[in-house]
Amino acid sequence: MPEGPSLRKFHQLVAPFVGQLVVTVGGNSKKINPNMLEMLRLQDSQVHGKNLYLNFGLAENLGLPDSFLLPKHLQKEVNLPEETSDHKLESTSGLDGQEVPGSSSSIKALELGEEEKDPINNTPWWLNTSQNSGPWLCFHFGMFGSVRASEFSRATKANKRGDWKDPLPRLVLHFAKGFLAFYNCRIYWCLGPMVKPTSDILSEEFDRRQALEALKQANPVCYTLLDQRYFAGLGNIIKNEVLYLARIHPLSLGSCLTALNLESLLDHVVSFSAGWLQKKLEGKPQHHLIYQKEHCPAGHQVMKDSFESPNGFQRLTWWCPHCQPKVTPEEPNEVQVTQE
Ligand SMILES: [Zn+2]
Repeated sequence: MPEGPSLRKFHQLVAPFVGQLVVTVGGNSKKINPNMLEMLRLQDSQVHGKNLYLNFGLAENLGLPDSFLLPKHLQKEVNLPEETSDHKLESTSGLDGQEVPGSSSSIKALELGEEEKDPINNTPWWLNTSQNSGPWLCFHFGMFGSVRASEFSRATKANKRGDWKDPLPRLVLHFAKGFLAFYNCRIYWCLGPMVKPTSDILSEEFDRRQALEALKQANPVCYTLLDQRYFAGLGNIIKNEVLYLARIHPLSLGSCLTALNLESLLDHVVSFSAGWLQKKLEGKPQHHLIYQKEHCPAGHQVMKDSFESPNGFQRLTWWCPHCQPKVTPEEPNEVQVTQE
C-alpha cells in the first residue's frame, strides 16, 4: 500500500489540474457514479496520511440557498475498514517498493450516497450541502494503488492466462488538456479531510510530543508506529526501516525504551519519510536496508515474522537480532543511538 511519501507524489501529480473543469469521465468505479463529475471543477486537493482528497464544485456559482442542507437520512457515519478483505494477509511481493497492507486507521468519515437527486431543482443532493467547499472525493489506495497524470498504466507482465492486459483505471478525469487516472483505490464521497495534520508524519505541523506520548506506552513499538492516529502516512516499509535505523527490536515495549531511544526513533521516522519523499519527487528509487532483505547492511541474517497486532491484522516484520536486540522489561534498553 502506498505510504505517505507516495501520497505526496500523487498529490503533486494532481496539483496542476486544480482549478480546471472536468470535461469527461471514465473508469470502472462501481462505488461512485463517475458521470456525476462531468462539468464540475476540481477546486482543491489535499493529502492526509494515506488518503488523497479531491474537492469538486459547480463550474458556475449557482448561489444555492443555505436552506438546502444535506439530508440527514443520507448521511451515515462509518468506520473505514482497516483493509479490504483481500489485503488482510500481507504479501511480500510489493511493487515499486510499495508497502503491502497494514494501515491501522481510526479515521472516521461521513460516507455519502451518490445517486439521490434533490427533488426541488434536480441537482445532485451533495451539491446542495451547507458546506461552501462542496463535496470531496476520498481515495484510499490498495496494495498497488497509484495515480497517473496524462498517461495510462501499462501491463508490465502477462497475467496467468498469458494475456498482456493493461490495468483498468478505477476513475479517469479528463480535462481540457490532459487527464488523471486513478488505479486500485477505494473511492467515496465525504465531507472533507478528517485527519489532523498534527498526526501526519510529512506535515510541518506534525506533533512530535503527541507522537512521543503514544510511543511511550507499554505497547510493542511496531504496533504504535502503524497507528494512524499518531503516525498518519506511516506504513510497513517505513516501520521496518526506522526500527532498524534506531536499532530497536520491533516488539520492544515503548515503556521499556529510554527517552533517548524514543527520540531517536522519532527522528528517524521524520527524516526517513522526508528523504523517501525527496527521492520520489526526484524520480529516484528508495533502497531498503531491512525491508524484504535476507541480510542487514552489516551482513547479519535477518529475521522475518508475521506479528498480529491488537486489531487483528498481520504484518510482516523484518529485523536483525544482532543490530536490534530484544529488550526485556527488567533491562531497559540503552542502545547506541546511531547517526544517519
Ligand atoms: Zn544486523
